[in-house]
Amino acid sequence: ILRNTVQDLKGNIRVYCRVRPPLESEANKPLYNFNVLDACSIEIEKIELLNSARKGKSQHTFTFDGIFTPHSSQEDVFAEVSPMVQSALDGYNVCIFAYGQTGSGKTYTMEGGCGVEQYGIIPRSINMIFECMQDLRRMGWELTIRASFLEIYNEVIYDLLNSNKEQENHDIKMVNSKGSDLYVSNLREEEVKSSHDFIRLLIFAQRNRQTAATLNNERSSRSHSVAQIKISAINEKRKEKFTSHLNLVDLAGSESGKTTQRMDETKHINRSLSELSKVILSLQTNQSHIPYRNSKLTHLLMPSLGGNSKTLMLVNINQFDVNFNETLNSLRFATNVN
Ligand code: ADP
Ligand code: MG
Repeated sequence: ILRNTVQDLKGNIRVYCRVRPPLESEANKPLYNFNVLDACSIEIEKIELLNSARKGKSQHTFTFDGIFTPHSSQEDVFAEVSPMVQSALDGYNVCIFAYGQTGSGKTYTMEGGCGVEQYGIIPRSINMIFECMQDLRRMGWELTIRASFLEIYNEVIYDLLNSNKEQENHDIKMVNSKGSDLYVSNLREEEVKSSHDFIRLLIFAQRNRQTAATLNNERSSRSHSVAQIKISAINEKRKEKFTSHLNLVDLAGSESGKTTQRMDETKHINRSLSELSKVILSLQTNQSHIPYRNSKLTHLLMPSLGGNSKTLMLVNINQFDVNFNETLNSLRFATNVN
């Protein structure tokens, strides 16, 4: 009961921190000090040379709903994430975000590496959905699963299931359904009958994304990548049905851009990330006006942010000394939405 009360007070937004381990090839890169204080808090510190004679210590503590250390496996992460997937199967709209600078482990967390053990949240979620399907069928539920993949780059939405160079206008459209406003995008949606079907689409989408990234260097780290899983469920016996969305979002790198060339991109990214945090903050403080329409990402995710929906954010950081300030920025962003 205590746990439930605490959760009610906290609302439907959870924020976790994940610290990635250095790779073998990075073994020589200097690291800042990082301590796990308890299950929910970390401390990071760096000794700074103020001038030749004086040293200062920059030390900061942050608290989350949970911490994943460099030793946490993909399975450990999914153990915390799977209740969100269960919620989507129960009819809730769900958003799972990976936030952090480029090189912090966002894509590893969401997509993962090769081999089942390294599978990230996206393949594990779809596996779980198809595993639960049999049980649900026994209870009279028939599920239809559809998937869309998209990228938002410089406030333009690209359909990753559409390989045409000439992209149509994928802007968000408003559809009036039974008197209530429903916002939908005109993105391609493919029905998937198995995890295998889904993974095939995911690979197709990744290729499309890579092609675009080759034409435009760095695009993949400067864009948001969204996998949307739509669950339509119907139970003839109980005369019940629902549709829910599970949105799995690999956010654009949060680093502040330095070159003037990329100023425009950085402006768009920083804006859409700060609009996201504004939306989450206004939801948490029960504001009457939620500024969804200020960015493409929040507008697109509008049906899945707020109301009865659930959000989980994973803030990814690395331990490299050179990234200390960016890491601080990420942790501060997280504290704002926490
Ligand atoms: P991002 O998407 O934030 O730019 P990546 O997911 O590409 O970062 O991670 C950077 C590198 O670190 C990749 O080579 C990735 O495979 C590796 N990596 C990230 N997180 C982990 C982890 N928890 N364990 C092992 N390797 C990881
Ligand atoms: Mg990435």
